[in-house]
Amino acid sequence: MKRAIYPGTFDPVTNGHIHIAERACKLFDEVIIAISAVSYKNTFFSVSERVELMQESVKHLKNAKVESFSILSVEYAEQRQAQALIRGLRAITDFEYEMQLAAMNKRLNSNLETLFLMTSGEYSFLSSSVIKQVSMLGGSVKNLVPDVVEEMLKKKYKA
Ligand code: ADP
Repeated sequence: MKRAIYPGTFDPVTNGHIHIAERACKLFDEVIIAISAVSYKNTFFSVSERVELMQESVKHLKNAKVESFSILSVEYAEQRQAQALIRGLRAITDFEYEMQLAAMNKRLNSNLETLFLMTSGEYSFLSSSVIKQVSMLGGSVKNLVPDVVEEMLKKKYKA
């Protein structure tokens, strides 16, 4: 059984993340989308909200599972017996950080491979932060995030 972990903050999940998850699901028997409960980033959505939004957004992916975790990604991958970590790559700015992370993860567990999937052009400049900035000021994020995320953003920013 080939299993991969796709870890991230997903605050909130965007169509860029979904596109990576869909492609990973074609490569592996099972993909665990692992939502980090402890992050150095201050999150706008709680971990249970992020899990719920992700679950709704990947309902069409039969071999995807959504879980939250609060340990090192490499440890979580080991616990779940995954052979690979999936990471998405956008424009060149992602490379340095992702290379550092992959090198550190390799040091922590040399059996685990990090697999990078390049995003498609339409999502190259899409990030959860840009989505939050635009939504906060009432701008439309239609077609950039799953519908359920769009609704939740509207609700939260109204409140
Ligand atoms: P983290 O806090 O771990 O970087 P993110 O939720 O920001 O978590 O991102 C999770 C993964 O998805 C990262 O590998 C990131 O590079 C990737 N990612 C983020 N946005 C996009 C996008 N628009 N297209 C493809 N991959 C993306």
